[in-house]
Amino acid sequence: MFFPEVFHTDEGVAYLKEPGVVLLYPLNPQFNYDGVRTFLKGFDPKLGFDRYVDDPTRIPAAEQNVKFAGQLCYMSFGRNRTINDQAKQYFDHIKESGHGSVLEHVSFSFLIYGLSRSQTHELVRHRSGVAISQVSQRYVSGSCLRFVERPEFQSDPELHNDFLKRINRTYRTYHELGQKLLERQRSGSLLLSAEQKTGLRKKVNQAARACLTNETEAPIQMTFNARALRHVIEQRASGSAETETRRLGIRLFKTALPVISNLLSDYNIIILEDGTEAVFTKWRKV
Ligand SMILES: Cc1cc2nc3c(=O)[nH]c(=O)nc-3n(C[C@H](O)[C@H](O)[C@H](O)COP(=O)(O)OP(=O)(O)OC[C@H]3O[C@@H](n4cnc5c(N)ncnc54)[C@H](O)[C@@H]3O)c2cc1C
Repeated sequence: MFFPEVFHTDEGVAYLKEPGVVLLYPLNPQFNYDGVRTFLKGFDPKLGFDRYVDDPTRIPAAEQNVKFAGQLCYMSFGRNRTINDQAKQYFDHIKESGHGSVLEHVSFSFLIYGLSRSQTHELVRHRSGVAISQVSQRYVSGSCLRFVERPEFQSDPELHNDFLKRINRTYRTYHELGQKLLERQRSGSLLLSAEQKTGLRKKVNQAARACLTNETEAPIQMTFNARALRHVIEQRASGSAETETRRLGIRLFKTALPVISNLLSDYNIIILEDGTEAVFTKWRKV
């Protein structure tokens, strides 16, 4: 997981330099071996299904769940089944043959922050196998406003200084604009006040946010099933993804890897000419 540092300008405006990725759920998943044992007991003992749950090699629960789904398709629980010791070959075969639907049986929920609105705008284009909840710029006021500095600005003193000045200015503009809108709301502007009381603050925020730049931070919770996660990593951590997004893609990959190492074992990290990382696989979009 990645917990980036939060920096502040001389005027106290908060900003981050890299994406934070936190695996929220599940943290300690378990597979229901007892339930499977009870299910398998109902078949002819000659089939040898009872050995399935007594496999001496335990693999992570998420992987076991995917493996069970694949093996259920062919009732491969008996003597000729693929044992857990051969899990890597089993999952490689699934990836190679494009039998990716079994990967949809496990999902992972990530908190992603330290990412700009321009990048989350790209991420929310993923629809299939993905759930999204993102900070509302209409509901949340300027008290939580933070910004994200692009990699290109961080090592260039002039661009870095420009960034600091820009976010100071944006922060001030946002608050000044909010104040002016609030005054007009109180003095009866119809566009700003003709609504239920609960909507009034939103009416100010939704107009004030017009001055926020693309480098405004936009915290987001995203849940992906493993098939969708692979697709997102392949698109967002590829060499053709842009640097800020690619850093996120790499971090998603590195956070998920210990939990589903066999499902991602075909991914290799390559170093591009500019020294940044990208993920490469021969089995895209399983
Ligand atoms: C390098 C790069 C550059 C890009 N440039 C642009 C750009 O200039 N302009 C722009 O608008 N977008 C751009 N995009 C966004 C891109 O077009 C996709 O919208 C985004 O990456 C989501 O991926 P996806 O379409 O695979 O959808 P996902 O929701 O991730 O879907 C996964 C897969 O499910 C299937 N699927 C999902 N929904 C449907 C459906 N409705 N019908 C049929 N099959 C479906 C597809 O096979 C799809 O690939 C860019 C993306 C990348 C990575």
